[in-house]
Amino acid sequence: MIRKHIVIVGSGIAGLIAALEIARQHDVTLVTKSELAESNTRWAQGGIAAVMFPDDSVAEHIADTLRVGAGLCNAEAVEVLCSEGPARIRDLIRIGVQFDQRNGELAKGLEAAHSYPRILHAGGDATGLSIELALVHAVRSAKNITVLEHTFANDLRLDAQGRVNGLEIIDPQRNERTMRANAVVLASGGAGQLYLHTTNPSVATGDGTAMALRASAVLADMEFYQFHPTALTMDGNTFLISEAVRGDGAVLLDANGRRFMQHIDPAAELAPRDIVARGIARQMAMQGGAPVMLDATLLVAKNGADFLAQRFPTIDAAVRHRGLDWSRDPIPVTPAAHYWMGGVRTDIWGRTSIPNLFAIGEVACTGVHGANRLASNSLLESLVFAWRCAAFLNEGREHDGLPGLTERPLPVPLEATPTAQRIDRTTLQTLMWNAAGIERNGVTLQQALSQLQNSRVLGASIADLETRNLLQLASVLMTASLAREESRGAQYRDDYPERSTSLQHSLLYAKNSEVSWSPGPNQNPLTASSSPR
Ligand SMILES: Cc1cc2nc3c(=O)[nH]c(=O)nc-3n(C[C@H](O)[C@H](O)[C@H](O)COP(=O)(O)OP(=O)(O)OC[C@H]3O[C@@H](n4cnc5c(N)ncnc54)[C@H](O)[C@@H]3O)c2cc1C
Repeated sequence: MIRKHIVIVGSGIAGLIAALEIARQHDVTLVTKSELAESNTRWAQGGIAAVMFPDDSVAEHIADTLRVGAGLCNAEAVEVLCSEGPARIRDLIRIGVQFDQRNGELAKGLEAAHSYPRILHAGGDATGLSIELALVHAVRSAKNITVLEHTFANDLRLDAQGRVNGLEIIDPQRNERTMRANAVVLASGGAGQLYLHTTNPSVATGDGTAMALRASAVLADMEFYQFHPTALTMDGNTFLISEAVRGDGAVLLDANGRRFMQHIDPAAELAPRDIVARGIARQMAMQGGAPVMLDATLLVAKNGADFLAQRFPTIDAAVRHRGLDWSRDPIPVTPAAHYWMGGVRTDIWGRTSIPNLFAIGEVACTGVHGANRLASNSLLESLVFAWRCAAFLNEGREHDGLPGLTERPLPVPLEATPTAQRIDRTTLQTLMWNAAGIERNGVTLQQALSQLQNSRVLGASIADLETRNLLQLASVLMTASLAREESRGAQYRDDYPERSTSLQHSLLYAKNSEVSWSPGPNQNPLTASSSPR
């Protein structure tokens, strides 16, 4: 088989797994804009969901995922995710990830909307860090992988037939270079930095999604952005308080110290994330914007004084660092932007609509999450589909692009008009938080979109390039959100509070520097286009 040069962008779980697997067959260059270990992955706390216990079942994991996805999951991709997940977890264990154990067996964790405690965790609440460090160690020791740290992927390079043949990068010395590649794998993660309040680290600026957009790749379901219900926000810093804390029994209290979630949903604090996030946002509005309180003291009463420090050492340290003692007092929490269900549309092999371009992990939209993501399914998605993408490439198969889409244009200019006003990142993030956040409506979305379309980012630093990417993606997200005149999953429109009876994905792509929107056919277009082996 011909040995190829494959360039991977990003070094979270998706990029690292892909690098390790693809390097069995090909030469790999792994490009990452910060240090190798920096990623959303390293901050993941709660864990990774998979069916690892005899009294659990793949069918139940599938059912939970589909239920939370609010009718928009790609059933084929969900089946792949849940049925291949256990084998991939065993791979992780072989690579060196040490999941926590209890009584000699893998410890079980419960998170919202799972019908079984199937969440594996490591280092208590340091699951992402444990995975990331084990994979970084393996990549550093592997043959055939060249790692380029502090190297910014700026744009994809296409040949005259529209096939990807390289990547434009900015190296640590700020030189712009083009790398030739037989294929590029985007594993560049999400874009939490779109929002003023986010659990994501600073690298999460959606660069890969924006690059794919500029190359005219099809994006899918971009309006669906998940807000995590509980982040500790103090002094402008946001720190995630994992769902696993509520899974273990912590409850939410209003300003008067009373529980409120049981009046909103029978599952109370363990209802799906959009319901809990909206419940908190509304409660905060009723109490003049003051945060609600997360009471974990019950866990201490039940399990002993050291329980929080032992079960959640990372959170415990972060809470105490901020001068709070959560074993004695409830702590203030608010929702924050967390995970993008939408992304570069792919099939179940990571193939995008552009030949030789793959996307895996949070940058991709495989359709496994539908309109909302089940807790702890995203690390699993990255793992499973990175492995599949590598399997596709290692078998020497050709990627000629996925079928296109039926166009129904809804143009959004990608390039700024000459009269456009300068916008800075904080203004953009504030606009997104207010207009395209937990609750939205058409009027505010339209006003914000008009403002974005009359905005441009000045400067050519890496931060400016990232902000330009965020600006383009903000327009896309708002366009998709406006087009979806219903409330479903993570998108709540107070002018369309009901779920529509018609079921459709939103598909977008840029053409002549404009973004077009298409509703896709009524059956699941993601399934229809993902040809099996
Ligand atoms: C605080 C937090 C807690 C979470 N907890 C959980 C959890 O418990 N369970 C779960 O399943 N999920 C969790 N998630 C979500 C999960 O961590 C992510 O969805 C997942 O890690 C994504 O992996 P990835 O490999 O796709 O991307 P990432 O891990 O984000 O990696 C992206 C990589 O791309 C690099 N990159 C980006 N742009 C460029 C560029 N232009 N050039 C070069 N490199 C670039 C980044 O530096 C980074 O290395 C959590 C997320 C956060 C933020």
